Amino acid sequence: MTVPPMDPAQVGLTPGRRNLSFAVIGAGMSGILSSIKLREHGYTDITIYEKADGLGGTWRANTYPGVACDVPSALYSYSFAPNPEWSHRFSAGAEILSYLEGVATSHGVPESIRFGEEVVRCDFVDGRWHLETSLGAHDVVDVVIAATGVLHHPALPDIEGLGSFGGRTVHTARWDPTVPIDGQRIGIIGTGSSAIQMVAAIADRVQALSLFQRTAQWVMPQENPAYTEEEQRAFRDDPTVMTTLHEDISEMFANGFSNAVVDAESDGMRMIEAACLTNLEDSVIDVELRERLRPDYRAACKRLVVSPDFYSAIQHPNAGLVTDAIQRVEPEGIRTVDGQLHELDVLVLATGFRVDRFMRPMEVVGPAGVRLSEVWADRPTAYMSISIPGIPNFFMLNGPNGPIGNFSLIEVAELQFAFILQLVERIRSGECRLVSATARATEAFEATRVEAAKKTVWATGCRSWYLDDRGVPAAWPWTFQRFREVMAEPDVADFHLTG
Ligand code: NAP
Repeated sequence: MTVPPMDPAQVGLTPGRRNLSFAVIGAGMSGILSSIKLREHGYTDITIYEKADGLGGTWRANTYPGVACDVPSALYSYSFAPNPEWSHRFSAGAEILSYLEGVATSHGVPESIRFGEEVVRCDFVDGRWHLETSLGAHDVVDVVIAATGVLHHPALPDIEGLGSFGGRTVHTARWDPTVPIDGQRIGIIGTGSSAIQMVAAIADRVQALSLFQRTAQWVMPQENPAYTEEEQRAFRDDPTVMTTLHEDISEMFANGFSNAVVDAESDGMRMIEAACLTNLEDSVIDVELRERLRPDYRAACKRLVVSPDFYSAIQHPNAGLVTDAIQRVEPEGIRTVDGQLHELDVLVLATGFRVDRFMRPMEVVGPAGVRLSEVWADRPTAYMSISIPGIPNFFMLNGPNGPIGNFSLIEVAELQFAFILQLVERIRSGECRLVSATARATEAFEATRVEAAKKTVWATGCRSWYLDDRGVPAAWPWTFQRFREVMAEPDVADFHLTG
């Protein structure tokens, strides 16, 4: 990419300051955010590369029946773009996608997006990033922002005969709207958030629904009232009402949930466990079914499932819970180890994601030949989930080991981007040409993070996508307040500012 001639005054540049060009990889929630914030700060040379043909990331990819966000919409919104039109406290996927499209369009983001173009390589040569794309383009930029998301590489289960199924097979994250549901015999493998939402959405539409459960899930109850016309009018008339709601819910989530799960012995954890237990006891009438739905590990050890209607859906006459292990898939359906063949028309894989991929398989080669594939050969690590030692001017949003859990990743990305911007400003000001975290700071961060993770509820004994290959929770193990504090300002001692 050639840097277009620019009027420095127009972009707030004073003599001596550098004009920087940016590649933002991914046009999901974080990529849209990056573009808006960069422009807000006077940067204009921004290209967003999006491998899909539309923006919206996870909300474009996940269109399975029932897809929704279990974080309240007033919180799952950009802080700078409150939306008075949310229809419900928790929104469906399509509504979130249209919100993201609306925000992106009103900020002129789509004009910077190159759709259908995947960045396959980034090589750092002579102080700049040289990008190679799937369309054969070779572009050169100063700074790369990897906004590639966490949950985007579908995990396919290793089940014998999977390819032999005679009906339709579809992964929740690659939903095909032509897959028939009404009056069909549907099998769903998995009991994570995706499966639970889908069960609730289709139980009364199908001929028969078989939910193949390998591990039972705790289910947090959730009410989802529609916003009244009057409430929406109040949101529209006075934007501070929504801003205050955003802040209040953020505090409530930080104190009530995020801070509870990082201390397995906290009072907050006991309250979460009690709420899930009461939900199970009160909602499932049949004693035998209730016992099969009862997990044998602590609530929130796995990513907590939140649902107003899963338990009622699984008790629907059309629905059945299968707890015998899957032996193999056959052309007619799924055979379980008890010898039974569960005949199906459609097989849904709600089997989650390969969460350690991040921006890979893109190859990233830093100066001195430092290769991301080698740095991350064991597992992905990063300083504060943002920067990788030896790979300068390359920053990640929602990268490895950042805050996860039932929190708004939009707020996480906003805080991270504000941190990244402060580093980028140092390059623009001419203070340095290259910025990356030091190896020492990254190792120290990782060592304390791993130690702190032992106290979290995620480490109390369950199988989950939160755990890395060593069984260590791959997440921010401290309070959300602490995350806000450290994101407020980079500690420059932890960075190489060179050149
Ligand atoms: P997931 O939580 O990783 O669940 C995958 C499910 O598939 C698990 O129940 C797992 O069983 C099962 N499974 C995997 N391989 C299997 C096999 N070979 N045989 C039998 N069962 C198998 O995936 P997800 O439901 O797609 O959710 C992933 C994450 O996406 C969530 O945790 C959440 O962070 C996010 N999400 C969020 C929302 C939202 O409302 N905000 C909605 C959907 C998803 P085991 O439990 O035994 O491993």
